[in-house]
Amino acid sequence: MREGIEPLVNDGFAGEPPTKRCLSYLQTQREKGKHVVGIYCGYAPMEVIRAAGLVPAVLCAFADKTIAAGETVLPANLCPLIKSSYGFIKTDTCPFYAISEAVIAETTCDGKKKMFELIADIKPTHVMDLPQLPDQKEALENWSKMIKNLGGFLEKTFGCKVTDAGVIREIKNTNLKNKLLNQIFDFAALTPSPITWQEIYDLTYFGQVATTEDMLPVLESALTKLQKRVADGVYHGKKESPRVLVTGCPVGGDATKVFKIIEEAGGVIVCLDSCTGMKAYAGHFEENATDPYQSVSRRYLDVPCSCMTPNSRRLTELDGMVNKFHPDVVIDVVLHACHSYNIESQKVKAYIEGKHKMPFLKIETDYSPGDVEQIRTRVEAILETVPKK
Ligand code: SF4
Ligand code: SF4
Repeated sequence: MREGIEPLVNDGFAGEPPTKRCLSYLQTQREKGKHVVGIYCGYAPMEVIRAAGLVPAVLCAFADKTIAAGETVLPANLCPLIKSSYGFIKTDTCPFYAISEAVIAETTCDGKKKMFELIADIKPTHVMDLPQLPDQKEALENWSKMIKNLGGFLEKTFGCKVTDAGVIREIKNTNLKNKLLNQIFDFAALTPSPITWQEIYDLTYFGQVATTEDMLPVLESALTKLQKRVADGVYHGKKESPRVLVTGCPVGGDATKVFKIIEEAGGVIVCLDSCTGMKAYAGHFEENATDPYQSVSRRYLDVPCSCMTPNSRRLTELDGMVNKFHPDVVIDVVLHACHSYNIESQKVKAYIEGKHKMPFLKIETDYSPGDVEQIRTRVEAILETVPKK
């Protein structure tokens, strides 16, 4: 990107970690008297949280600095996301946890489940039993019930009312937000792309926290700026840069070292397929369902997370992303000790190399800087295999 290009979101937080923008937003909402509830996962039913009038705060952490504190209680051979998140709570240094008055948790991976037990007595913590066989007919019913129960927990904890009409309103709001965010992602599909991974990441991060009403002006202004960039011939990287699709575990904070390495090696990231990227904004909620909870249940059961079995939707979603973003290479980022994403990587590799005839690289990493040079060597090597354009 050329020097002097106006940031997509020019609110004083451009160039800062996206957590700063989100924290400032949450603090403003608290000052206005809104209640904040912490979430840990892409399965958290935002439509019910918002129907209750609450603001969600993302509690997943991506910082190396709290890993040591996490490891005083948790095993060292556990996913860094869990250790870092727990380390922040243990050291009482997480402003997102501090501002949250309750926590919503889901039974996704074993590490998270057991970590929730350790923090359950600090704040009201509601654990939702997430079905892990999404294709079984009972899954829809069971998850629907869990989502309804969440409404009951929120009503009891915050003295609010969750109505069907409120859930329907929030379903429509989410559909609108997703539509606009996907219009932003469409720009990353252009060759060359006028948007950076950092800009996509900033918007997707903020989109988890901010309401559709508050996001609308941000997204509309970003769309106008992107149209102008295209008209002015402004793009990111070089026209011939290898295009990279990144898939796998959620990546943020210190783990974005992988994104930076890809760029330094000459690649341009055009697709961020993870819960910290575009995954949260895929799909569509049925707006006219007889039971709005079933609509919410159906949409979340479609989230292609590796904790599901089988997780065949991940391959279908990858097909769509490959066809849309035209990557030259797929890089799967797996956090240390995340067994489900690690094992699933075999299937993803076979699928990408077999069906799409594309180079594939799995990177196993954590939040420490110790493996930066080793990752760089591997990324440079895989990008070398991309035929010159
Ligand atoms: S990767 Fe799976 S467990 Fe992790 S946040 Fe996303 S949906 Fe939740
Ligand atoms: S990255 Fe894997 S191990 Fe870590 S919290 Fe997510 S699903 Fe669990």
